[in-house]
Formats: sequence, C-alpha cells, structure tokens
Amino acid sequence: MATIKAIEGRSVHQIQSGQVIVDLCSVVKELVENSLDAGATSIDVRFKNHGLDSIEVQDNGKGFSPDDYETVALKHHTSKLSTYDDLTSLDTFGFRGEALSSLCALSKFRVLTARTEDGAVGKRLDFEVSGKLKSVAVAAAQRGTTVSVDELFYNLPVRRKELEKNIKREYGKVLGFLHAYACISVGVRFAVSSQMAKNKKVAVFSTKSNTTTKENIVNVFGAKTLVALIKLDLCLEMQPSIGPTTQSARNWSTQANDRRTEVRVEGHISRPVFGEGRQAPDRQMFFVNSRPCALPQVSKAVNEVYKSFNVTQSPFIFANLILDTNSYDVNVSPDKRTIMLHDQTALLERLKEKLNEMFEDTEHTVPQSTLP
Ligand code: ADP
Ligand code: MG
Repeated sequence: MATIKAIEGRSVHQIQSGQVIVDLCSVVKELVENSLDAGATSIDVRFKNHGLDSIEVQDNGKGFSPDDYETVALKHHTSKLSTYDDLTSLDTFGFRGEALSSLCALSKFRVLTARTEDGAVGKRLDFEVSGKLKSVAVAAAQRGTTVSVDELFYNLPVRRKELEKNIKREYGKVLGFLHAYACISVGVRFAVSSQMAKNKKVAVFSTKSNTTTKENIVNVFGAKTLVALIKLDLCLEMQPSIGPTTQSARNWSTQANDRRTEVRVEGHISRPVFGEGRQAPDRQMFFVNSRPCALPQVSKAVNEVYKSFNVTQSPFIFANLILDTNSYDVNVSPDKRTIMLHDQTALLERLKEKLNEMFEDTEHTVPQSTLP
C-alpha cells in the first residue's frame, strides 16, 4: 500500500505560513512594508497589550482596488512581481504575495480599505483561514488601508504560549524594527502607540514627514543623540576577485569586473568618545539600499573597530549600504530578514579599514571635555 500522500491543502498553508510569520516582528515588518510599498506618507502602528491582543497598521497609501478584493489574501498573489527575473529590478519590499495569506492562517485578520484616488466608500474585508474572501461590508474608513491582526497564533498553541512568555522582549525587538523603518523613511510620518488593558492609549514614538534621516533620528531618539553623531560617508572600493583558475571562475570574474565594484556606506555613527554606555541593539540600524535588515557580520565588524577606540561602550549606528542590486540576494529566508551579500569578506575588510581611518582622524577622537 502506498504510504506517500500529498498533505492536505489547508495544512500545507498553515505549515508554510508559520515560516513567513515567525513572530511579532514579522507581522509588523510585513505590514509596514506593505504600507510603504503602497506609497503611504503616514503610517500609524497601534499595539494592544504589546501586540498580543492586536496589532493595527493604518496607512494613507493607495488602498485596495475592488477588483483585487478576491485575490489580495490568496497565497502567491502579488501586484509587485510576476516572474523570477523581476526580482533583480525590484524596488518594493514585498514580492512573494505571502504575508496577507499567512496572516489569515495564523490570526484573526481583517482589512479596512478605501481607495485614495476616488475616495470611494470604505469597505471591511473578512477572509477565510485559506485567504479566500469571506465577506465585503460597507464601513467607515479613512483613505488608505487599515490592517488588523488580532490574537496572533491563536491556533498554534505552542507558539502562542512562547509569544506570551517572551512578549516584552519581542515587543522591544519590534520597536527596534520600527525605529529603523521610521528613521530611513524620509517623507513619511510614523506614529507608534500602545495600549495596555483598559488603560489609555499612549504614544510610544513618532516622526514628522521629515526631509532627512537626521531629523528622523532626532524625532525617534531625541536631539541629544545628534551631538554625539558624525556623518558616515564611506566609499569602499572592492577589488574584483583574483586568480581565477577555471573557465567558469574566469567567466565569473569577468562578470564581476563588469559589475559596479563600489559600495557606499552612508549614515551616522557616534564618535568613539560618545558611545552608548550599554549594548544598545535598538540603536544599531543597518540597511541595504534603504531596506532595513539584519547584517550581523557588518555589525560585528563595526563594533570591533569601535571597541579599539572605546573599550567600554558600543556605538549608535545608522548605516545604509548602497550597492548594486545584482550584488545581494534578499530571497534567502522566508521572512526576508537575511540578506546574502556578494563578496562579504572583502566588503568587511574594506569597511574596517575605512572606519579605522575615520576614527583615527583626531577631529573625531578629541576628548569629550574639549568638544563644544
Ligand atoms: P506582497 O507584499 O509580497 O505583494 P502581501 O501578501 O504582503 O504580498 O500583499 C499582497 C498584495 O496586497 C500586495 O501585492 C498589494 O497589492 C496589496 N496590499 C497589501 N497591503 C497593502 C496596503 N497597505 N495598501 C495597499 N495595498 C496593499
Ligand atoms: Mg507584503
């Protein structure tokens, strides 16, 4: 008797969704990215009970077209990509069409939307667990979209328990994420608020529609931070790879030669004399072409160099790596948090050299007491 059978569709959906939406951060990341992709200039993120009860993201973006109501939460349905080749020229955060469908499978999910162009009547959309549209009802809605995710992981008891257990830490991580999006998103107003039980809603942080990342940083971290910061503007010249021995390596090397071999690192970093008195992961933000991401190796390299100038503290850092879209891959992990950088080892070496030079410059290492 045959023992290998296809897994029933609904179960496959639930299994895969659990890989896209792994935690509270994934939810917030996916929703905020959708708002940014929709061209929003104003984004409100609201947490109830640190997100355990609900997470709501409201934007003033382009909204959903009624023609898309049926497909919006279906798996692998996206307005952003249709073939694999589109990936290299992608300028949106999303591309897999998995977030909304996964949220349908893992939470009590609903959408309020009104199109921006025609300011049409608002609609409330409810979905089945599979992502199939269940109902459309007329509702009061502002221009743009509000997505609500209630009781995340209500149907995955183990994950729900873990989330409850670690909620404070998770929430802290989420704020770190939001800081990064709020700081990099020039021209977008961000407002984050939180409500506990029956208490009043409190503002957590906000940015105005600033024109520079520096102003965003001031809004998020306070004007004091600015005194400590110096501009980061490094140009890392990357050597094309050396010593190809095989034909394929030679071909590869030629291609590498044709590629742009320059990486820019732009942003802000605290002067060594001003570092943070503690490990402050929420104050270390890394981006690749303005896409917030975890770059543990880059972070390690920066911290290492910094440590040689300031042994007791770690830096505030906001660093945007500007590189050719061909030289990294965002399609590495289901949650798109991991980015694979081409020639990372060489990049790290150059970065360390340049940072060293920068910090050695006496202008940046004068004792704190002599600074204005
Ligand atoms: P992806 O972002 O990978 O396309 P999602 O599941 O996150 O997949 O979203 C599915 C589609 O729903 C998007 O392609 C987009 O067209 C639409 N969408 C999602 N969120 C919003 C939003 N806040 N405003 C307007 N459209 C949205
Ligand atoms: Mg998306």
